[in-house]
Amino acid sequence: MDFSLVKKLMLTSRLHRQIINRVGLMVVLLAVLVIAGCISFMNWLYHKADNDEISAELTKVQLILQNEREGLGRAVRDYAVWNDAYDYIQLPQRKFESDNFTQQSLNVMQIDFVAIMTQPQHFFFSSALDPHNPNTQATPAINSPSLLSLLSQLPEWHAAGDGKPHTYITIHEGRALFLAVSGIFDSAQAKPQRGWMVFGRYMDDDDLKRLQQLAKIQLALSATMPTTKVASGFFHSTQTAQTRLAGWMVPTIWLQVSKEIDWQPRYIVMGAFALGLLLVLCVASWTLQYLLNKLVINRIETFADLAWRRSQGERVYWPVEGDNELDLLARTFNGLMDEVQTAQQNLQTLSVTDALTALGNRRGLEQEIELMIQASQPQADMSMLLMDLDGFKLINDSLGHAAGDLLLREVALRMRQVMRRQDQLFRMGGDEFTVLMPNTNVEQAARMAERLRQQLVEAIHFGPHLLNVSASIGIAQWDGESDGMELMRQADLAMYEAKRQGKSCISLYEKGMSGVASEQMQLEQALRQAIQKEEIEPYFQPVLDTQTGQVLAVEMLARWQWEDHFVQPADFIRLAEDLGLIQQLSAQLLDKGLKALTKFRQNVPNLKLQVNISPMQFSDRQLASSLLEQVSAHGLPCSALAIELTESAMLLYPEQVGQTMRQFVTAGVSLHLDDFGTGYSSLARLRDLPFDTVKLDRSFIVMMSEGDMSLPRVVFDMASSMNMSLIAEGVENQVEFERLKQIGYRQMQGFMFAVPMAEEALQHWLVAHQQQE
Ligand code: C2E
Ligand code: CA
Ligand code: CA
Repeated sequence: MDFSLVKKLMLTSRLHRQIINRVGLMVVLLAVLVIAGCISFMNWLYHKADNDEISAELTKVQLILQNEREGLGRAVRDYAVWNDAYDYIQLPQRKFESDNFTQQSLNVMQIDFVAIMTQPQHFFFSSALDPHNPNTQATPAINSPSLLSLLSQLPEWHAAGDGKPHTYITIHEGRALFLAVSGIFDSAQAKPQRGWMVFGRYMDDDDLKRLQQLAKIQLALSATMPTTKVASGFFHSTQTAQTRLAGWMVPTIWLQVSKEIDWQPRYIVMGAFALGLLLVLCVASWTLQYLLNKLVINRIETFADLAWRRSQGERVYWPVEGDNELDLLARTFNGLMDEVQTAQQNLQTLSVTDALTALGNRRGLEQEIELMIQASQPQADMSMLLMDLDGFKLINDSLGHAAGDLLLREVALRMRQVMRRQDQLFRMGGDEFTVLMPNTNVEQAARMAERLRQQLVEAIHFGPHLLNVSASIGIAQWDGESDGMELMRQADLAMYEAKRQGKSCISLYEKGMSGVASEQMQLEQALRQAIQKEEIEPYFQPVLDTQTGQVLAVEMLARWQWEDHFVQPADFIRLAEDLGLIQQLSAQLLDKGLKALTKFRQNVPNLKLQVNISPMQFSDRQLASSLLEQVSAHGLPCSALAIELTESAMLLYPEQVGQTMRQFVTAGVSLHLDDFGTGYSSLARLRDLPFDTVKLDRSFIVMMSEGDMSLPRVVFDMASSMNMSLIAEGVENQVEFERLKQIGYRQMQGFMFAVPMAEEALQHWLVAHQQQE
């Protein structure tokens, strides 16, 4: 199944989900808010428009009423400022009344009554429209007492007229009444006033209807302030507005207009608007999501997919489309990936390259060998040479790493010179080189090995030194079946065999070879591990003063139990030297030995520890100081330590040994010349060296038991004359003991007294020995 697709889907839905979760609710809320806001805004607008409209209607109605008043005013003035009317007051004639104020003329003028009077109660004439028969010719007088009383209260009675009409609006018997009053003058207004003329007009239902039709509203006039009852149902509502009109007799006249509003069409508009808005919002959010998808999410999906493929090793790049932040990210990522790739390639190269010689390393060989095997036909010949330098460690340890490095580079160079074009050279680490040779049979491989060996005959210059190296070479021939590991193992075995035969040997792998050589390899492995795990233990063998029976010292001897047996110290010590592990091993042993010594010294206070030092350890210039440090770290005096070394050390590093020895002597450490008699030196030649004790080798003692006492005696005499102490080593029996004693030997060590023992055993032995004394 396509994993990347699954990832992609997961990513898509997750990102989408996250966005929808977080933004979706917000968008919905926002939409609701916006729609609600818009609807209430529209509602407000409608109300405001209604208000404005009704106010306008109110003004309009006011204007109409004003017009009405003025018209009435003008009418009354036309009649009042007139010679006929003026004369009528002086001389009341029926004719004036019947000519001017018939029912019909009142009707035409839309006046409900007319009154001519000189005093409040004194009517010259009054006529009212008969509401039941407006067309009759008769002119009945005003007969409503309340109206007459209203007229008698007109303010005009208290002031002189000026010829200008005064108009009022009032409520009479629940009806709105317009009154127009004018002083009666002659037409020229030259003579004094002669009374008042009053026109009255009721605002009746027909008038109201007319007005309402004119303004498409309802209106009402009242003496008291109307209660603003806004009947507002869901589909219908009433909008009202009111104002005070200037009036008389009743202090205020209220005009109220109201209008019925049908909300249904408005709701339709608002609904349509909300729907439209919703649609717009939907389209907007869809567009937003589309853009987000196209510009961001899709690209991130692509990035994630490509990054995943990249992590699987596919060489893909993030697409760059423009120069926004994502493109910057893509460009940066691509750059980083390139860097990583280069770094990986470098690492890859480094991981298969040996830094010192620039040859391939062990991993390089392993890779190459597999490739070569895959490429070879089953019958094709292929050989492998494994070359190990002899004595390289010695040079490296004594002359330093610079010398070692130079040597290795020079060896690589010389090997290359004789190799063919198709051969490949690798350095396996340390001083091991491998040559991989395609299309090569055994004879050709052997000839090549010989040529390589010849290349090393000439010494290599390192400053003033001439470095002589040789090499042991193992040859393995591919059998056409086995794998690279097997071929390497065979070459290894052949090389070990060559090493076993001695320096500078060449050996060809044979079937039976695995036995010895592989045992050697196993031993090597095991020793490395044993040192790593600090499994090698010190044993201790006492050295006695045979005259007093006192234990003077214990010699520390290394013991290594491998599998079911103890490996000979001589063997594993040499192997440790070869592997360059002797320093580490010695330090471990000394540490354990010193720890044990502090315990032994609780029983035998001045007991010394005799420690064997391998010649190779002298390559370490810090040898003396680090040993002395170890001693004092255990709280022991330097005099508790005795160093044993053989003369072979002096031959290897004469200068350094001398220097190190002097450091020991200065510190008060005893120096023992070990195995004396096995080497070539005479004691006289060692005179200049600061040994204080000579250890007579067991071979002399064996010699002595065969009857020859001369050499031990000579050694004894010379050592005595040089003020050196003597220890006879390897005393096994009474006969040997007696003879040595006879010559004068006092200090002795051997199985006759005690075998080397582990710490605990020696502790018991020391206690038992003390009790014997
Ligand atoms: P060495 O220093 O000469 O040690 C004395 C050897 O004589 C020891 O052998 C000891 O077990 C053996 N020996 C003692 N008494 C008798 C005896 O009565 N008869 C016989 N036949 N042998 C006796 P070992 O322990 O096998 O050690 C062999 C050599 O290995 C040592 O010779 C020493 O050179 C080396 N060696 C042992 N331990 C160490 C060590 O920790 N460091 C170094 N550098 N070399 C060591
Ligand atoms: Ca020794
Ligand atoms: Ca010895």
